[in-house]
Amino acid sequence: MSPAKVSKKPPTQAPKVSEVLEHRWDLSALFKDVEELDKHIANLDKRIKAYEKKYANAFSQLEAGGFKKAMEDYEELSEGISRAMVYVFLIFACDVEKSDLYSKYQLLCSDMAQHLLFVENEFCALESQKQEELIQATPKYAYSLRVLLKQKSHLLSLPEEKVLLATSSVGVEAFSKLFDKTLTALKIPFQDKLISEEEILSELHNPDRKLRKKAQKALTKALKKNELVLTYVLNMVRKDLHINTKLRHYESPESFRHLSNQISQASVDSMLEIVNDNYALVHRYYKIKSKILGYKLKDYDRYAPLETKESPVSYSEALDLVLKAYRDFSPKFAQIVEHAIAHGWVDSHPRAGKRGGAFSDSTVPSAHPFVLLNFTNNRRSVFTIAHEFGHMIHQELSKSVGYLNTNTPLTTSETASVFGEMLLFESLKKNLDKKELRGIYAGKLEDMFSTMFRQVVMTNFERRIHATQEELKAQDFDTIWQEENAKMFGKSLKLTKNYARWWSYIPHFIHSPFYCYAYSYGQLLVLALFGLYRQQNTPAERKAFVETYTNFLSKGGSQSPEELVGMFGLDIQDKEFWKIGMGEVEKMLSEFEALL
Ligand SMILES: [Zn+2]
Repeated sequence: MSPAKVSKKPPTQAPKVSEVLEHRWDLSALFKDVEELDKHIANLDKRIKAYEKKYANAFSQLEAGGFKKAMEDYEELSEGISRAMVYVFLIFACDVEKSDLYSKYQLLCSDMAQHLLFVENEFCALESQKQEELIQATPKYAYSLRVLLKQKSHLLSLPEEKVLLATSSVGVEAFSKLFDKTLTALKIPFQDKLISEEEILSELHNPDRKLRKKAQKALTKALKKNELVLTYVLNMVRKDLHINTKLRHYESPESFRHLSNQISQASVDSMLEIVNDNYALVHRYYKIKSKILGYKLKDYDRYAPLETKESPVSYSEALDLVLKAYRDFSPKFAQIVEHAIAHGWVDSHPRAGKRGGAFSDSTVPSAHPFVLLNFTNNRRSVFTIAHEFGHMIHQELSKSVGYLNTNTPLTTSETASVFGEMLLFESLKKNLDKKELRGIYAGKLEDMFSTMFRQVVMTNFERRIHATQEELKAQDFDTIWQEENAKMFGKSLKLTKNYARWWSYIPHFIHSPFYCYAYSYGQLLVLALFGLYRQQNTPAERKAFVETYTNFLSKGGSQSPEELVGMFGLDIQDKEFWKIGMGEVEKMLSEFEALL
């Protein structure tokens, strides 16, 4: 296995960012070439089979020392599989033509992974006293083993699970697919063309109000045409969730989600309460937006663009801005960023065959993260860099917790990325003129409303539709949807009758019930941490905060969000914690008002 090549090089001089035009990845921290990958796989395959031979059906006889060794080997072998997998994934991400290579190795890797499945199963099948004994003996894996046990405690017997698995493709999964097929098949008449659902939704950002209204009407009509299917599918999802909650002995329909998010019902309730209590902030914003646009807003005006000024930003300028924001916060963070851009961790620009979007892949702890960007010369792209570099810093800092502890639940996985965006925002504020700032503030506030308040509206909707068991009619869903959304907008914006039907295209309700609140949870958690940072008045206090925050990130997924937040002396179950985050939204809104 190749060691961490790049991260062990001596620290380098800060690169002259302003001279840089474009970055490409250097994947050699993973493998030199496909030949080296093949050797790695041949060797790994042998070792995995030997491991299986030694440990399969033998977990119950393991003593503490033997279990520790078995877990360490398991971690190393699993990491080996991931190293191979991520290498071909990254090649594929930059060149979609390489899909054959990707699927060939995907198959090989999933074959190898099959031979390690027994580890979790055998551990979970042990007597609970024995499990406790082994957990005590391996503190490194204690948290992830406990999470595993909690999740598996809701499994049914093996034959029952097999039946459920075998029939799942004709159960709720089939309805889920039917939903996707129905929506992707939509051809919506608009401006003498037939366009997709995604295209029509993007028309809501059109500066021309008449076109936005037209798009809203057209989508509503298409959704109403499919009322029968869309209503029936949502009812089947409700029934399925109800059956599963009962069969698997969950306390409530949303409990399974809190378990996978690794948080308690009490902390979710506290967060929801604070967001629900603060819709007045949304009302305040849309009243201003209405004043600026000069008419009373309706639902199709939510995303209407405000006239703003924006000057183009070059890639090297963007890097300088992001670096400055991170350096002012923590020299250590800036060092990671400088090292990354000097050593091929970043692929910066769009090109033919490269996938869109942006991500930071943690890869494996024995290598380093890789960041994919599709930089275009606008302000939004600068925020994307700050966002992905935040992920990268988080991933790099948490390498020491080891492969099995790296994954963070959705509730904390966006911490460093959103925090990084806030740092950039703070830093930009000082240098831009009013008109340019107005656009940035409006964009930030609207982003916050949709990741925080809108997701809570969706959760409120879900809580209500899953609270009853009888089949609901389309009009019942309409009423609940409209009532919950009306709370968010109050009198600042009128929801038309058409809008009542807009629950019916939201994929989360179908594919992953009770998923939405995690966005709000993550966002408000970061804002609370950021608010806490801003409350530190002296350099010494700020330094102490940065240390605790760095430590927080370094723990990766080896502790629960509750323990992590506890490092700051705060309680995630307590409403006071969430109020700090809401205070930041208020502050941003007031600053926006002062710009007018
Ligand atoms: Zn992200």
